[in-house]
Amino acid sequence: MSIDKPANDNLLDQAGRWLVRSADDALRGLGERVLRRRLRVAATGLSHAGKTVFMTALLHNLRLAARLGEGQAGHLPFFEPVAKAALDDVTLSPLDDLPIFPFEANWRRIVVPAGGTPPDFPPSTTGVTGFGAALRYRPQGFWGRQLSGSTTVTIEMVDYPGEWLLDLPLLELSYADWSAAALRLADSGSRARIAGEWRSLDANMLATEALLESARLSFTGYLAACRAAPHHLSHVQPGRFLNPGDGTADLSAFRFCPLRLAPGATAKFGSLAEAMAQRFERYKIEIVSPFYRDIFSRFDRQLVLVDVIGALNAGPESFHDMRRALRDVLPSFNRGNDSLLARLFSSRTEKVLFAATKADHVTANQFHNLRLLLRAMMTDHTGALPIAADEADFAALSAIKCTTNRRVMYQGQQITVLEGIIRGREEPEQLYPGEIPEHLPTEEDWRSERFRFYDFRPPDLDAESANATGRGIPHVHLDRALQFLTGDLFW
Ligand code: GDP
Repeated sequence: MSIDKPANDNLLDQAGRWLVRSADDALRGLGERVLRRRLRVAATGLSHAGKTVFMTALLHNLRLAARLGEGQAGHLPFFEPVAKAALDDVTLSPLDDLPIFPFEANWRRIVVPAGGTPPDFPPSTTGVTGFGAALRYRPQGFWGRQLSGSTTVTIEMVDYPGEWLLDLPLLELSYADWSAAALRLADSGSRARIAGEWRSLDANMLATEALLESARLSFTGYLAACRAAPHHLSHVQPGRFLNPGDGTADLSAFRFCPLRLAPGATAKFGSLAEAMAQRFERYKIEIVSPFYRDIFSRFDRQLVLVDVIGALNAGPESFHDMRRALRDVLPSFNRGNDSLLARLFSSRTEKVLFAATKADHVTANQFHNLRLLLRAMMTDHTGALPIAADEADFAALSAIKCTTNRRVMYQGQQITVLEGIIRGREEPEQLYPGEIPEHLPTEEDWRSERFRFYDFRPPDLDAESANATGRGIPHVHLDRALQFLTGDLFW
């Protein structure tokens, strides 16, 4: 005989089960975070996106953050351990398994320029480099306080060229398919005007090492011209040809470039087509796969920096080319079960933050639009980010804030202008930088040539004041990015 429970009892049962489940989940979540005391966070982005400057400013500000007194949030007010004055000590040290990020030389160049020269940005790093920050803090949450009076989280910061991510799609392409796509691109827009002997090579020619090398040089020269002024194009593939890394990867063996191949034709024995197809396959196996397998798969969180403002300055072709490159980079963050990444490699990147850099080139009232514009560049026509990621967000940031906002009267109206020293000049100037559109720019926006954003040099910060007061390097939203990427580990 079954006894029907009254409806209220059922509700109470359900509520009880829900409470137990929620408490279970909370404890499990806490348990995971308690055990997890080390995070590997990557900062990536295409060349000149701002990786080196970001890493330097972040590490320097973190190092100073522990020296602040009670109630002083310094330059990281949105990073909780700092906001709650719970940070006791920060120790920086190189990582065991990666080349050293040149932190010391970099921050000196910004903070204490030698011989009275003005502060300047450090030279960009190439390849993969890393540096660690061990943060000792007093847990502030209820459970954290019961568990420990003091504990340490180590954040391993790694930077690597975003161009390398352009190579993931190659893994699915045959040499013939890649050649056809690369030639279609090379025949369009200003690329078509950048000369390159490689384009007229006959696929049936006899392959000699000298010919393969001259073809590679001609193709690499074309890629370099695409990226340089005045074109500023971002889609330079294969990604290692211009950013080989720290010299440990020997690329000299990978002499290939796209060739015009007859559809369905089989490459002749000993021909250029056959030799290049073989090297293309080797490049995938010996260069692309090891990066994903040995380095990429170890990142827990990633920050993808994008120079949206630079792309606006460079004009419509450069802007749309950057969108194309970003779309090719996105599959590297797609952890969906049927994604290329999941099928070929393991990835543990749980959080991705896409950030538009150099936000200090515009006034603060434009940060929101800058974030929206980056979002519009990366999302599909429905407004969705076409990847399955545990957590992804967008931000506008500036690792070194080189300008200040000033309110001035202009034609009877109050407007906000920027004040800073334009690179190459000596005196501070005030200027109205214009606005960032919240959507992709229209034809009219491009025609009106309204995007003319200036580069500024870092502000004067002497080492004495930066160290003694612990104020650090001024920035925009660096602390929010840090909180998004690591905040959950500080229970
Ligand atoms: P990377 O190639 O991604 O490492 O790029 P870098 O970090 O070397 O930055 C390239 C250039 O962008 C720098 O030399 C600066 O001119 C500029 N830049 C980067 N970050 C900032 C920033 O936060 N503010 C300003 N004003 N300029 C920046």
